Amino acid sequence: MTIFIQPETRQETIGKLNEVKQTFAARGWFPGTSGNLSLKVSSHPLVFAVTASGKDKTKITTEDYLFVGKDSTAVEETTLRPSAETAVHSIIYQTIAEAGAVFHVHTIPNNVISELYGDLGHVLIGNQELIKGLGIWEEGAALAIPVVENYADIPTLAAEIEKVIDSSIPGVLIRNHGIYAWGKNDFEAKRHLEAFEFLFEYQLQLMQAKQSFAISPSQLGIKIV
Ligand SMILES: [Zn+2]
Repeated sequence: MTIFIQPETRQETIGKLNEVKQTFAARGWFPGTSGNLSLKVSSHPLVFAVTASGKDKTKITTEDYLFVGKDSTAVEETTLRPSAETAVHSIIYQTIAEAGAVFHVHTIPNNVISELYGDLGHVLIGNQELIKGLGIWEEGAALAIPVVENYADIPTLAAEIEKVIDSSIPGVLIRNHGIYAWGKNDFEAKRHLEAFEFLFEYQLQLMQAKQSFAISPSQLGIKIV
């Protein structure tokens, strides 16, 4: 399928993705060329810009993105290859109609928490102000963020993700791999991803702090007077 992307659309889309890429790169969220970003430009037919495979995402070049369709292949003449996980972006756009941007990063906190809660199938987080960052405003809201196994076969991985995602929680974790977060546009997807990462770090630090707290004061050399 060949589709003509208007030059203004191309420029605007790549500009937005570059801004997000630079922000995330500065945080070290793309270790070893991992991670990928996409932004939807059309729903019918589905067309989105996605990061090209194997590029150093701390740099900006003219060959960082390509435009692909529902089947994850390029909709225009290009020598670039889409990220290996483009099929996951596509399945998220197909399943969550309101998704307009999908961001994927590998971080230590999202990997550690996905392993801790992997057997349970979801990460449970409650009573945290930043849950509102995910657009969930109920008092005392608790989150159950789905975790799927890290299938090497991307169609299998995409099918597993399709089974567990819905519009109530804008993200899914892949065990010992990373997170996919989305939103209606680049701004919202970025906010969601940042909220998830904050919540994961908070949860991990809280668990550690609770463990240290379980040590008696005398073990820490503190004298109670
Ligand atoms: Zn990945």
